[in-house]
Amino acid sequence: MDLDYTDEQQAFRQEVRSWLEKHVPGKPLPSFDASREGFEAHRAWERVLAEGRWGMVTWPESYGGRGLDLIQWLIFEEEYYRAGAPLRVNQNGIFLLGPTLMEYGTDEQKARFLTSMASGDEIWAQAWSEPQAGSDLASVRATAVLEGDEYVLKGHKIWSSRAVFADWAFGLFRTDPASQRHKGLSLIFFPLNASGVRVQAIPQIDGETGFAEIFLDDVRVPAFNRLGGEGEGWNICMATAGFERGLMLRSPARFQVAARKLVELYKAHEAEVEPTVKAAVLQSWMDAEAYALSIYATASRLAAGGHIGAEASTNKIFWSEMDIAMHKAALSILGARAELLRSAPEAGDIGRWLDGYFFSLAGPIYAGSNEIQRNIIAERMLGLPRA
Ligand SMILES: Cc1cc2nc3c(=O)[nH]c(=O)nc-3n(C[C@H](O)[C@H](O)[C@H](O)COP(=O)(O)OP(=O)(O)OC[C@H]3O[C@@H](n4cnc5c(N)ncnc54)[C@H](O)[C@@H]3O)c2cc1C
Repeated sequence: MDLDYTDEQQAFRQEVRSWLEKHVPGKPLPSFDASREGFEAHRAWERVLAEGRWGMVTWPESYGGRGLDLIQWLIFEEEYYRAGAPLRVNQNGIFLLGPTLMEYGTDEQKARFLTSMASGDEIWAQAWSEPQAGSDLASVRATAVLEGDEYVLKGHKIWSSRAVFADWAFGLFRTDPASQRHKGLSLIFFPLNASGVRVQAIPQIDGETGFAEIFLDDVRVPAFNRLGGEGEGWNICMATAGFERGLMLRSPARFQVAARKLVELYKAHEAEVEPTVKAAVLQSWMDAEAYALSIYATASRLAAGGHIGAEASTNKIFWSEMDIAMHKAALSILGARAELLRSAPEAGDIGRWLDGYFFSLAGPIYAGSNEIQRNIIAERMLGLPRA
């Protein structure tokens, strides 16, 4: 790993920065989880990105990308967060399904799904979890039965982020009714407006409707919508989970920007806070930088032909715990003011720390809970016996 940026990389950074300066909306967009309006505002932003071919810079030009490498993607992300650009409403598509499609999809599937994903015309939800299959994903019960050249889908999915407003979902289904556990599962795409699909919002404690249950009652989709071979769904899902935990979903830039804001917050209130808070602030800043270096190392290894392995689990634990620690430090600096909701007239920027804290609490749960990641590390990295 060379820690110096090349002239080409510096020029690329400058190009990204100038474009973002011209295009990032002046005011934050309304939440994409709270209303159709917020969701569509984010879709419109995805289209602006796509017009500049910034939707997913690592994708080939033929799918709306720029054919750049992962290091350039990291640079793009650094500039993106630095500019305060909107969160990506199509993150399930571009960061999770996209790379998986690139690896396992046929040319026809790539042509059909990737371009509309990059342009924001089709926004995706992930439909893996079920009421009895969260951590234990291998106990998926939803079924897909092949009839002619169509699958008939039946089942009940839950905790599907943004499915209330999204256009498509990728789900895990049991295609072999006699199969057990992770055998006999397939990954299948379905449009959320298909006949037989019922999407029911799950209101959250903060009043937003970010999650949904999806009920599938004899939903017919073409066999073309299966990614990879029949019964190969588990391995493909695990590849997606590797992208989710290990690299794409939480790029270091998000935490580096938050750490810098935390340092600014600390400096503004230094005289009022307990001395112990300083150590927490310093630790957060160092952790964010350390995480960035570790991701640069992973990206360099992938560029040299490597694969993401069990270290995706260590990354996931690291970023999720770092996020909570960072927000806790901010709340202790703010003291009682931290309790102001974003909507409170006096909140100003303070409400963002409370919002961020609430969201950080979900980090150890989504993308595979941290307890499960610790099991994976114990078994696959350390070779310890199964608990
Ligand atoms: C913000 C957020 C967004 C999400 N988005 C999506 C989405 O878009 N699509 C989707 O499909 N799902 C999504 N999920 C669901 C998420 O993947 C599951 O919540 C997660 O996998 C845990 O499953 P569960 O909720 O069924 O908990 P359970 O599996 O019931 O686990 C409950 C607790 O027991 C622990 N536990 C369970 N088994 C073991 C074990 N063997 N060893 C040690 N501890 C164990 C878990 O770690 C957890 O702490 C999301 C969740 C959140 C919080």
